[in-house]
Amino acid sequence: MGFKKFSSWLEALQNEGTEHLPSEERRRFLKMGFLVTGVFASGSLLSLVSKVNKVYGAPEVYRRSYPYRPHYSMVLKIDQCVDCERCKEACAKTNHVPSYGWRTNILERRIPVAPDEYVTEFIPVLCNHCNVPPCVRVCPTKATYKDKKTGIVIMNYKKCIGCKTCMEACPYNARYFNEEKRAIDKCNFCYDTRLSKGEKLTACAAACPAGVRIFGDLSNPESQVYQMVHNPERVVWVLRPGAGAKPNVFYTKG
Ligand code: SF4
Ligand code: SF4
Ligand code: SF4
Repeated sequence: MGFKKFSSWLEALQNEGTEHLPSEERRRFLKMGFLVTGVFASGSLLSLVSKVNKVYGAPEVYRRSYPYRPHYSMVLKIDQCVDCERCKEACAKTNHVPSYGWRTNILERRIPVAPDEYVTEFIPVLCNHCNVPPCVRVCPTKATYKDKKTGIVIMNYKKCIGCKTCMEACPYNARYFNEEKRAIDKCNFCYDTRLSKGEKLTACAAACPAGVRIFGDLSNPESQVYQMVHNPERVVWVLRPGAGAKPNVFYTKG
């Protein structure tokens, strides 16, 4: 990724803010049948998805509201990330990611805690498999598409003409141009290399020694991702909610 693009992207990320949504308020919204996919920022709740005239009270009713089955999702516990990059290595090995490319990355953010004192936070990033993916909307050849069954945003390399429109459209800088494939490449939740072969975890989730990457089915109330995202006591957010892409990758702490 070019440094200029990377730094402006990171700057946008920092400006977004990730203030906490009070659990009382979160519970109230969940009760009203809202799906919280955003982050509480500067006093207003962003990216709420409201299904008009529908209230998803019981888990079974709520489950039916998901369009995909399984609805693949990842929750990242950012405060557990130690920047060991085992996820990156496992991803590169499993998915043959070249040294100049990336399907997942670890960003760093310095947070001031006192005058001249900072703590560093590591933020793993990957394609968010957005519910409203700008990359899919702009692709002129339909080389990038959202899988109707799983919701995974997938590349058909043969259809890609390398115009890079999708790279510009992605608010998360999740794509790179693969010179060997002469096509755009990005994270696909290891669909071809693991999930379609019966594996339950992505390579990065399986390799993480700190349990940062929780992967699973958001349409299954028994799954850990479902329970984390829908627990009113837990603060969960997405990156850049203002972009309106409605990610399926969530962030939390603890
Ligand atoms: S993160 Fe970017 S590449 Fe991934 S689905 Fe969203 S817009 Fe597309
Ligand atoms: S680079 Fe490929 S995937 Fe991206 S918009 Fe162009 S054709 Fe579609
Ligand atoms: S889910 Fe798979 S493709 Fe995506 S970042 Fe993790 S290892 Fe790479």
